[in-house]
Amino acid sequence: MLLLEEEKRKLAETLWEKGIRDERVLKAIYDIPREKFISTALRRFAYDDNALPIECAQTISQPFTVAFMTQILDVQPGDKILEIGTGSGYQAAILSNLGAEVFSVERIEKLHENAKSLLAELGYKVSLKLDDGTLGWVENSPYDKIIVTAGAPDIPHHLVVQLNENGKLIIPVGDQESQRLLMITASRNGFEKKFYDHFKFVPLIGEDGWKA
Ligand code: SAM
Repeated sequence: MLLLEEEKRKLAETLWEKGIRDERVLKAIYDIPREKFISTALRRFAYDDNALPIECAQTISQPFTVAFMTQILDVQPGDKILEIGTGSGYQAAILSNLGAEVFSVERIEKLHENAKSLLAELGYKVSLKLDDGTLGWVENSPYDKIIVTAGAPDIPHHLVVQLNENGKLIIPVGDQESQRLLMITASRNGFEKKFYDHFKFVPLIGEDGWKA
């Protein structure tokens, strides 16, 4: 038990050293049991700052990536947030822990079902949908924030139009080897774009993404 707390504390310190200064984000990373979102065989790596494999050849993102995207999205209690790429459910748990109302779409049924039972077991109220997330989740739109956790060849039009009037969309855009994080902020005068560093995500596959 003490060991686990020590590992969590070390991870939070590593993230702080890498530039994560939002205390709420660091606390969410500390509070959420990442070991539950991965297989038992990998549990000893749960608090390393690395992406790890999950089922169906997908990944749970690196804690730094999760923390960085969450920090730049400036998640506030009550924000209505759409996540594309539920995966293990870990990023959705972080957003929910920060007080956001979370909607998350996953295209792989097994991952959707696993995340549904785990998030319910941990007590997170997240709305999940099995679908092609490149089309968004129009019934609940508009969203304050949209976070895409898979790498896209371009910006899916359906997502941009589901933002509210000051909404923000964060999405990795590039080829399948490497992507740059792109933040799109809506305003009365149109959309503002800001690029961040390079990251590597699994591909966003769908009608408005890479083809399967
Ligand atoms: N956010 C996840 C987590 O916390 O574990 C990590 C996501 S993983 C890096 C990317 C996920 O995006 C995969 O589970 C993949 O199946 C999913 N994905 C890819 N294309 C998608 C699409 N069009 N719609 C929904 N999910 C998609």
